[in-house]
Amino acid sequence: MTRLSSKTPTARKSHICDGCNTEIAAGTVYAEYRGVYEGSEYVRRHHVECRDAEAELNSINDLDGEDWMTIAEHYEEAGDELLADLPPIVADRLRLWVKRSEDRSAARLAAARAALSAATGTGEA
Ligand SMILES: [Zn+2]
Repeated sequence: MTRLSSKTPTARKSHICDGCNTEIAAGTVYAEYRGVYEGSEYVRRHHVECRDAEAELNSINDLDGEDWMTIAEHYEEAGDELLADLPPIVADRLRLWVKRSEDRSAARLAAARAALSAATGTGEA
């Protein structure tokens, strides 16, 4: 993994944070890293707070290169205990991400049930 550049531009349009998976709204200053990994260029965009928290967690756990974990991956592994150690704004974003994931799962399940009942003729449709 080769780092090409890092900067903190202001978002002209909204992005998804590669750390917490929630929105980086247009107008927000964010952390952008460009690099090359296995011959391909990559771009990573983070909320500044997410990037700082993620870098600190990876440093504490001695994770680098291919072992690098996003803040969301740390959260999935450590669970809610981790939230107390994070800046509140980062903890709130991770809670929002989990809630949206659960909402999406519930919506997919409902859609699948509706399709199944339509296909088998057992539904109220
Ligand atoms: Zn973030």
